[in-house]
Amino acid sequence: MTKLAPVLSAHWDEKDSFTIEAYTRNGGYKASKKALAMDPDAVIQLVKDSGLRGRGGAGFPTGMKWGFIPQGDNKDHYLVVNADESEPGTCKDTPLLLANPHVLIEGCIIASHAIRAKHAFIYIRGEVTHVVRRLNQAIEDAYKAGHLGNGIELVLHVGAGAYICGEETALLDSLEGFRGQPRLRPPFPAIAGLYARPTVVNNVESIASVPAIIENGAEWYQAMGTEKSKGTTLYSLSGHVKNPGQFEAPLGITLREILELSGGIRAGHSLKFWTPGGSSTPLFTAQHLDVPLDYEGVSAAGSMLGTKALQIFDETTCVVRAVLRWTEFYKHESCGKCTPCREGTWWLVQILRDLENGKGTEADLAKLLDLCDNIMGRSFCALGDGATSPITSSIKYFREEYIAHLTLGACPFDPVASTLFEGAIK
Ligand code: SF4
Repeated sequence: MTKLAPVLSAHWDEKDSFTIEAYTRNGGYKASKKALAMDPDAVIQLVKDSGLRGRGGAGFPTGMKWGFIPQGDNKDHYLVVNADESEPGTCKDTPLLLANPHVLIEGCIIASHAIRAKHAFIYIRGEVTHVVRRLNQAIEDAYKAGHLGNGIELVLHVGAGAYICGEETALLDSLEGFRGQPRLRPPFPAIAGLYARPTVVNNVESIASVPAIIENGAEWYQAMGTEKSKGTTLYSLSGHVKNPGQFEAPLGITLREILELSGGIRAGHSLKFWTPGGSSTPLFTAQHLDVPLDYEGVSAAGSMLGTKALQIFDETTCVVRAVLRWTEFYKHESCGKCTPCREGTWWLVQILRDLENGKGTEADLAKLLDLCDNIMGRSFCALGDGATSPITSSIKYFREEYIAHLTLGACPFDPVASTLFEGAIK
C-alpha cells in the first residue's frame, strides 16, 4: 500500500514548528543559502527537472512558468504568492502556513532569486486573521535573522475576502488596489502582471515545495509520484470520515488508500459521492475509489485534481441539497463581470431550489442542463465553468435522486417526507 510521505508536513507535530528556531533546527534556510549561491537560471532548471507542477489547481509546471519571465529586460520583476485559499473543501495552505510559515518564506527567497525579482508579495484572505498574525511574525523574524531584506523584500497583503481573488489576474488587480476582477489575457502575467511588469503568480504549496527540492535535488523529487505528476502533495480530507485532516502523500495515491490510512468512512455508513479537487470539480462516486489522484488519472476519469480537496459524503446526504449549497456559493462569489456567470448562476440557484423542494418539473432539469451548457466555456474565467461542474456531474450520476424529489414533491431525505416515499432513494 502507498504510504504517506511527509515532506511539507514533516515537522507539523512539533509544538513550536512555526517558529524560526524550529525551522532552523530542522535544517531550514539552508536551501535558500544554496540557491542564492547558484545562477538563477540553474535554479529554474533544477525546478523544471524536478517536475514540480502548480498545486493551486491548474497543475502547470512551476519551473516552466518561471522560465517565461523575460531576462535582461531591465524591468522590475515580481513574485506573487496566491494564499487566497477559499475553494469550498480546500484546507491545505492554511494549515501549512500555521504549522510552518518559514518554508513559504524560504521558498519566496529562492523563487525571487530565480526570476530575478527584488519584491515578493503574499496575498492572503483577510478572514484568516490567525494565519495573518503568524505569517507577520514569521516575516518579522526572517528579516531580523537577515534572510529577508538583503536584496529581497517580502510584503504580506491582506485581501478583503473574495473567492474571485484566487484567480491570478483578479488577485493582481486587487493587489494594485482595484476591484478584484479577472483581466483579459493575453498579455499573461509573465509579460505584464503586477504593475504591468513581468510577474510569477504561484500557489502557497508550490512555492513551499521548492526548498526541499533545492536541498535534496530534482531526482529525489522525481522519484515520488507518477510518470507525469511528480512529488508529494497535501490532500485535504473532510466530511463523513473518521479522521478528517491533511494527508501528505505521493501524487497518484487513491482515495481508497487515503481512507485506509485515515480510518475510513464514519462507522456504519458508506461512501455516496465525493469531490476530488474541491467543489468546482466534477463529482466522483464509489466507483472512482481506485482512480489515481494525480493530474492525468483524475482527468481521464472525467474530473480534475484541482486543489485535492477530498470532500466525502455518505448515503445520508441529499446530493441535490449539497449541489444547491455549492451553487449558492458560486452565485454569491460571481464577480459580475460577464453575463453568463453573473445571470446564469442566479438562475441555477432558483431552479435548484425548486428542484430540492420538490416543486420543479423534469423540464426544469433539462433547463438546468441547458443553462450549464450556456455557462460552460462561455464565461470570462473559470469560476463560471466551475459552477456548472457539480450540477452536471450530479445529474449524470444521481438523476434518479433528482427525479425522486419531483415525484415526492419534497426532499426524500427529509425525515417526514421520506416515510411517504419509501424506496425513492437507493
Ligand atoms: Fe466574474 Fe463569473 Fe465572469 Fe469570472 S465567470 S469574470 S467570476 S462573472
